[in-house]
Amino acid sequence: MIYVATCTKCKVQYVSSTANEFKVRFRNHKSAMLTNETTCELAVHSNKEKHHMSDFEFIVIETIVNESDNNIDRRLLTKEAFWCSQLCTLQPYGLNKRSEFNSKNRIGSTWWPLSVYFCTIKGLVFSVNLLLFYQDF
Ligand SMILES: [Zn+2]
Repeated sequence: MIYVATCTKCKVQYVSSTANEFKVRFRNHKSAMLTNETTCELAVHSNKEKHHMSDFEFIVIETIVNESDNNIDRRLLTKEAFWCSQLCTLQPYGLNKRSEFNSKNRIGSTWWPLSVYFCTIKGLVFSVNLLLFYQDF
């Protein structure tokens, strides 16, 4: 599933996905905040701004069903990139980092070429969104 975490104090958002149960991922974020983990952008933000877990609101925005285990990670990554661009959650507008798609959160080194590909796609989609945004004025 894809979820978005909103910092209710700063109004910034963070998009991420998990193939696990959401409560497992939620616990991961929570422990990352408590241990000052720098690999979790939510934890980095929380510690920098002296927030608590209660300052964040988690919403599941999309769930993927009926996918084989081989496809689920790729589907999640695609959807995550899509929602990142839709919600403008890339830094400095949000808390997502482009480099996240190369990080240890992704399983195995075989993801490298794919990660680079999605980073590029994400950059393009993001630019297009900005253009559309300006056209509204
Ligand atoms: Zn904040």
